Amino acid sequence: MRIDDAIAWAKSQLKASTSSDVDAKVLLCHALDKPTSFLFTWPEFELNDTQRSVFTDCVKQRAKGKPIAYITGIRDFWTLTLKTSPATLIPRPDTEVLVEQALACASGFQNEAIDICDLGTGTGAIALALASELPKSNVLGVDFIADAVELATHNATLNKINNASFKQSDWFSSVEAGKFNLIVSNPPYVETNSPYLQQGDVRFEPDSALTSGEDGLEDIRHIIHLAPSFLCDAGALLFEHGFEQGQAVRNLLVQRGFSAVKTVQDYSGLDRVTLGYWKN
Ligand code: GLN
Repeated sequence: MRIDDAIAWAKSQLKASTSSDVDAKVLLCHALDKPTSFLFTWPEFELNDTQRSVFTDCVKQRAKGKPIAYITGIRDFWTLTLKTSPATLIPRPDTEVLVEQALACASGFQNEAIDICDLGTGTGAIALALASELPKSNVLGVDFIADAVELATHNATLNKINNASFKQSDWFSSVEAGKFNLIVSNPPYVETNSPYLQQGDVRFEPDSALTSGEDGLEDIRHIIHLAPSFLCDAGALLFEHGFEQGQAVRNLLVQRGFSAVKTVQDYSGLDRVTLGYWKN
């Protein structure tokens, strides 16, 4: 099987998907362990037996709906390449808005050696993006799931980041009563009965990373309630949330006593990140 034939075959297998062309090429690059440019420069390259068998297996998994990031085991986020696992959410481009806003908050502190906590870190995406951009900072990522803690720790090593550490904790339960300059979180925020959970890639992601009670706000409420004890003066709390939850999250922050509360839109123009500052 040649490269051009392999792509055509995969597209025919994946034709139900709107991303069949990209998916076919990403999976072929994965099977060949080559960059995309290889596919264009050498379309007549013949796959060997191993490459063909890895490729056909990957395409079959994708045809059953499995997310690309779980098949290849990697996903790019910010400037990093992260290992993924079905134990955690796949990093999303929209979450980079949370990183941008956290960096903007961080620039408000005179001292660059700030302390940051990422709650529900998963792959470690947010924690590691912030640690890489703020090399003098000290980042702690926590997750309830032991496999996620292991994965995030591994991702720190892979990306040669040594100012981030990870530990198992149910939100703040095992976080020592330190004072963080920034607390960031992309918690679960989908409503338990949302029809959205029956579509596309999310069907394969862990429920624990997606849903949070009937209105999707249970974990956000819990974090907002406890966060002030873990924030330093003028520290900021930032959340990613659902596109219809901006007003509700702003209200919760204001009611708890946070100031300068604001919501920021994602790259599709939808409410996605809300933040507020704590004054002791
Ligand atoms: N942003 C995710 C989605 O829309 C939801 C993940 C979450 O609850 N943090 O699929």
